[in-house]
Amino acid sequence: MTKTAAIIGAGFGGLALAIRLQSAGIATTIFEKRDKPGGRAYVYEQDGFTFDAGPTVITDPACLEELWTLSGRKMSDDVTLVPISPFYRLCWENGTRFDYVNDQAELDRQIAAMAPEDVDGYRRFHAYSEELYQEGYVKLGSVPFLNFWQMMKAAPQLVRLESYRSVYSKVASFVKNEHLRQALSFHTLLVGGNPFESSSIYGLIHALERRGGVWFAKGGTGALVKGMVKLFTDLGGTIRTSAEIHRIEGQPNRVRAVVTADGIAHPFDMVASNADVVHTYAKLLGGHERGRSYGKSLANRRYSMSLFVIYFGLKGKRPELAHHSVLFGPRYRELIKEIFTAPKLADDFSLYLHAPSVTDDSLAPEGHSAYYVLSPVPHLGTADIDWDVEGPRYRDRILDYLDQRYIPGLRRDLVTVRHISPFDFRDELNSHLGSAFSVEPILTQSAWFRPHNRDDLISNMYIVGAGTHPGAGIPGVVGSAKATAGLMIADAGARA
Ligand SMILES: Cc1cc2nc3c(=O)[nH]c(=O)nc-3n(C[C@H](O)[C@H](O)[C@H](O)COP(=O)(O)OP(=O)(O)OC[C@H]3O[C@@H](n4cnc5c(N)ncnc54)[C@H](O)[C@@H]3O)c2cc1C
Repeated sequence: MTKTAAIIGAGFGGLALAIRLQSAGIATTIFEKRDKPGGRAYVYEQDGFTFDAGPTVITDPACLEELWTLSGRKMSDDVTLVPISPFYRLCWENGTRFDYVNDQAELDRQIAAMAPEDVDGYRRFHAYSEELYQEGYVKLGSVPFLNFWQMMKAAPQLVRLESYRSVYSKVASFVKNEHLRQALSFHTLLVGGNPFESSSIYGLIHALERRGGVWFAKGGTGALVKGMVKLFTDLGGTIRTSAEIHRIEGQPNRVRAVVTADGIAHPFDMVASNADVVHTYAKLLGGHERGRSYGKSLANRRYSMSLFVIYFGLKGKRPELAHHSVLFGPRYRELIKEIFTAPKLADDFSLYLHAPSVTDDSLAPEGHSAYYVLSPVPHLGTADIDWDVEGPRYRDRILDYLDQRYIPGLRRDLVTVRHISPFDFRDELNSHLGSAFSVEPILTQSAWFRPHNRDDLISNMYIVGAGTHPGAGIPGVVGSAKATAGLMIADAGARA
């Protein structure tokens, strides 16, 4: 008889898992709390503008393409990816700029202009990042770590690559210039990690970008989500939106059904949760001893920071901007430390600015342009800020800063604006402490130390998404879907 699976949540991880299961002949249903799929990749439509809420930097398109090739299809039939160059423009307050491009000669030229003695160091860092990529991403990025011995097998390579050191400290061993050190280490923030504390293994992101490029989905990341949903439903899968799961029912070591808000129990052979891991264990599995005890232990782990994101639309266009910019504030190390540990909001900020209208005209009304700007901020367990009060003030500070330094006339040309704060991560996405990227990616919370792709005690309960191995970011959660699908397909005895 055909096996059935329920997936709780339609984030990138949930969707990728659903496509893999359905392609393998497992009848799969996704239950999504919100009115639209995507999770952190939700789309806000406002005053004729289309704002991608979350991920905008698409790396490793091959991990997405694989979802289509499983059933003999092509991603290009449903989604168009456009290459972005520069990958990012990095800007500092003293006027220094660095266009991070995928052209070695141009990179050498810019590094030589900044710090001639670092040209060679950068090349050695790139070679090191390639090794990390092979060990950390190719070999381990989509295999589940269910027992400690798997971890021990990988350990010698990880020790050789000094993965016990932080990304920043490894980068600093290759290059001396402080701006270059920031340019090569800030990437961990994109997956919720502090560059001064995350394992140097995350230095692989550099090689991932250099190899696979940085891409943008035509129509926005929302178009990529739509393409994944279309693929899944074309394969015969079912997706139910505005369908929050309130609990998961079953016996101590097997789950039997998911229960929607209306009290109806929907029976399934297997259940995978793409929702936050604390929410999954402490609330959804709260009726099981396992859920209560593991939920409590997970709540005590370290969580990544949160984000404050402002979406805004302007009259006119700004073709001089890069599609992706990182705007470093006056402090780096100290600011990051405050974001991860201080009980209050820092006085300064570093920002990521998304300006998709420089690539895609379809996201704003004629003669207008769409943007978002994000600021990493402490999660609610670090700083108990009342964002209903602080949010509008913080929004105005950031918009004024952009107006003064990077987008002159922003205030004058502003036609629409909205923002999200840690409260939205907590309340809309059920994220523990309003964390934006789930369990913090430090060595002692990675691989086997992360919540497992299949529960240790409940034999038909699985996890997919940022909270499990390998972690946050689109390639991470799509890799987690591959690891989790492998287990579910084998457990179901379905065709791979
Ligand atoms: C602002 C921002 C920018 C980012 N930028 C990038 C980027 O440029 N590139 C990149 O690669 N990554 C980026 N990331 C990280 C990336 O977006 C995430 O790591 C990834 O999308 C998380 O996917 P996920 O599978 O864990 O699911 P999520 O997106 O977390 O989705 C989980 C889903 O579960 C649903 N849910 C929760 N509880 C329930 C319940 N009880 N019942 C039913 N449904 C439920 C939620 O509504 C949600 O839809 C960014 C993240 C943010 C927040």
